[in-house]
Amino acid sequence: MAQKPYLCSHLQLISPMTTFQDFKLNRQLLDALAEKGYQTPTPIQIKAIPLLLAGHDLIGVAQTGTGKTAAYLLPLLMKVKYAQGSLPRALILAPTRELVMQIAENAQELSRYTDLRIVPLYGGVGMKAQREAVAAGVDIAVATTGRLLDLYKENAISFKLIQTMVIDEADRMMDMGFLPQIRSLLEVVPSKKRQNALFSATMPEKVTALTQEFLEFPERVEITPPATTAQTIKQGIYETPNFKTKINLLDALLQDKEQFKKVIIFTKTKESANNILKFIHRKIDPNVKVIHSNKDQNARTNAFEEFQKGDLRILVATDVAARGIDISEVSHVINFEVPIQYEDYVHRIGRTGRAEKEGEALTFVHPVEQYHVRKIEKLIKKNIPTLPLPEQVVIEPTPYEEQQEILRQLDYIKQREDPTYQGAFHRKKRRPAPVAKKTKPKNAKSIKNKGAKDTKSKFRKTN
Ligand code: AMP
Repeated sequence: MAQKPYLCSHLQLISPMTTFQDFKLNRQLLDALAEKGYQTPTPIQIKAIPLLLAGHDLIGVAQTGTGKTAAYLLPLLMKVKYAQGSLPRALILAPTRELVMQIAENAQELSRYTDLRIVPLYGGVGMKAQREAVAAGVDIAVATTGRLLDLYKENAISFKLIQTMVIDEADRMMDMGFLPQIRSLLEVVPSKKRQNALFSATMPEKVTALTQEFLEFPERVEITPPATTAQTIKQGIYETPNFKTKINLLDALLQDKEQFKKVIIFTKTKESANNILKFIHRKIDPNVKVIHSNKDQNARTNAFEEFQKGDLRILVATDVAARGIDISEVSHVINFEVPIQYEDYVHRIGRTGRAEKEGEALTFVHPVEQYHVRKIEKLIKKNIPTLPLPEQVVIEPTPYEEQQEILRQLDYIKQREDPTYQGAFHRKKRRPAPVAKKTKPKNAKSIKNKGAKDTKSKFRKTN
C-alpha cells in the first residue's frame, strides 16, 4: 500500500520510503506491528531503531506520545528474541507503576508471536505474586526502582545475565527522587557487554549527569527540542477569576459530549481532584473516575483501563498518578489548575495529540496562575492563545477568602523573585496590631490551632 508522507511533530517531512520492513525486524515483530496497526514508524523510531539495532548506547530526548516506547522495545525484542533460561536478560526501569504496566503491555503485544516472558514489577501490591513470576522464569523485567531493589535484596531476582538496560522517563525519575535507587541498581547490574538506553522528555542537569554514569559513548537522538509540545495539540487558555468560575466553565464545556468525547482533567492536588470528581458526578456525567496516589492500585488500574477502552468519558487525575500513562485518542486535556512544575504542563498535554493525532489542551487560569503560564510559555517557546469564555459561563465574584489567598500567593511569588519586595498583603500584616482587647474571642482556641497547622503550608495563612 502506498504511504503518504506526513509532517512529523518537528515539522520535518518524513520520507514515505521508511517502513518497519526497512529495519529488518523479524517476521514475528512485523506481524505484531501490523496487528497493532502501526503502519509507519514515527520520527523517534526512524532515528533510534537503527542505532539500537547496531548495538549503540543511546540517549533519546523525546516526550511521551512520540512513539518512544516502541523505539526501544523493538530493538530490545530483536535482541532477546525468544525465551531462554530463567534469569532476565533485559531490564527496563520506569518511574511509576502505571508506566511499568503500560510498557509491559506494549512489550507483550509486540512479542505476541514469540514465547518471551515479560514480567512487570512495581510496588503498592504484595511481593508474593511478583516473586513467583520471577522464579518461574523471566526474559524481560519492567520495573520501578524501589520494588526491583526490594526483590534484589531478598535474592528473588538476579541481574547477572542482564545485557540490555533501558531507563525511561529519566527526568521524571529524577523529579521523584529515584537517583539514589538508580545508582544502587547500577552498582549491582553487571556493566560488561551491556547495551544501555535512556529516554527523557527533558534533559535537566541531573539527567545529563546520569547519562555519564550510565551510558558508554552514547548516540543522541532528539525529536523535539527539550520541553516543546507536539504541533498536533491545539492549546488555549481561559481566564477564570476564581474557583467557582472554573467550575462553571468546566460545566459548560463538558456538557458538549460530542466534542468532549474523552477528557482528562488535571489538578494539582488530590483534594481538588476529589472535589471536581464529586461535582462532575453529581452535576454533569456519572461516567467519571479519579486517579491519584491515595487510590489503591486496583482502583487506579480499573479507572485507567475503563478510560482507555472508552467506557469512561472523563478521568480526573493528579500529575503523579497520570505520569507516562498511555491513553490514546484523548480529545481534550483540561488543566483545571496550572502546574507549578512547569514540565508537568508538557507531560499533561502530551496525553492528547499522541502519535500525530490532533487534540486540544485547555488551561483554566486565575490571576496568580497567569504568572506560571508566562513561565510555561517561556519553557515551551510558544504563546498560548487566550480563548473567549463560552457565553453561558457565569463569572462569579471572587469570595473574600479566595481573594486574600490570591493576594498572598502573588506576594509570595514576587518576593521569591525579589526578596526586597514588600507585598501589599504583607505590608498590611505588618501594621502595628490594634490595642489588644481584654476579652478573649469565643473561638480563640480554634483560631490558635488553625494557625499552628497552617504554618506548615507554603502560603501561610494569617488570622
Ligand atoms: P509512546 O510515546 O511510546 O507513549 O507512544 C504514544 C502512542 O503512539 C501509543 O499509543 C503508541 O501505541 C502509539 N504508537 C507508537 N508508535 C506508533 C506507530 N509507529 N504508529 C502508530 N502509532 C504508534
